[in-house]
Amino acid sequence: MSEGEFDLIARIRRRIAARDDVALGIGDDCALLAPPPGIQLAVTMDTLNAGVHFPPETAPADIGWKALAVNLSDLAAMGAQPAWCTLSLTLPHADAAFVDGFCDGFLALAAQHDVALVGGDTTRGPLSVSIAAHGFVPAGAALRRDGARVGDEVWVSGTLGDAAGALAQWQAGTAIAPPLRARLDRPTPRVALGLALRGIASACIDISDGLLADLAHICRASGVGAELEADTLPASDALRGAFAADARRVLQATGGDDYELCFTAAAAQREAVQALGARLELPLTRIGRIVAGSGVHCAGLDDLAPGYQHFA
Ligand code: ADP
Ligand code: MG
Repeated sequence: MSEGEFDLIARIRRRIAARDDVALGIGDDCALLAPPPGIQLAVTMDTLNAGVHFPPETAPADIGWKALAVNLSDLAAMGAQPAWCTLSLTLPHADAAFVDGFCDGFLALAAQHDVALVGGDTTRGPLSVSIAAHGFVPAGAALRRDGARVGDEVWVSGTLGDAAGALAQWQAGTAIAPPLRARLDRPTPRVALGLALRGIASACIDISDGLLADLAHICRASGVGAELEADTLPASDALRGAFAADARRVLQATGGDDYELCFTAAAAQREAVQALGARLELPLTRIGRIVAGSGVHCAGLDDLAPGYQHFA
């Protein structure tokens, strides 16, 4: 480890917030953490590689935000309360300006959710960021992919297709609508929703690869199928303004990177879900139902994206 890398760690360490359950944070060979009694630790890890998961010219602060956001989104999808994370940073050279910018975005989101950075690793190589995040969930209360039952209703939070819309505009070389760009660069992990869905949802997943693909994971794990209506998928005004109806529906159904939650709940929970959306001021939209069988069928997409019509 070079002087430059020690300096980078010092720059990060100076800025991080404390938590009472971190007995020993950055600086020793390991962190020492004290999980509360009776909880299960939800543990997840995601990597972002330059040029693969974000355009190389993405601002360091946006990379920092998104790298943490995609991990907090996984905790949200399990109904876990975020607590701690570790950060593996691989940089082409000891770039203090990059690390400072990265920390601006990373720590802004960490502060919103009281997440402590407790350790990590700093190495040299092509730009890559890996984060492992740890959250708390009461034993047995986690929202899993395998709990959907025939007759349950399928719900989605927020709006769909915005991040994919930004990517489509970027690839087409047209100006990217700022609200769409914001969804791509600074996704909002639906942590409060995930926590509130404990005891209400039967299964849950965050939408990172696209609604149809991610709901198909729930269906496969639960041994059921799903029927959706393309007409009911929620769209932002920005997406409506930027894409005609047909193109928009494909983005909503198949575009990734929105980090909304897709969940199932018994029909008897419908009012509880609606009340939750009102309390959190987050639109929750009923988009279909769980049926016997397998795969995800989406009425209204047939002519637009035939390959996705039966998303096994
Ligand atoms: P070791 O050689 O024992 O792995 P390092 O020199 O890699 O130790 O790291 C020193 C300390 O700094 C450790 O506590 C480690 O967790 C922390 N650390 C290293 N890189 C980072 C990083 N990018 N973010 C947060 N903590 C880090
Ligand atoms: Mg190390």
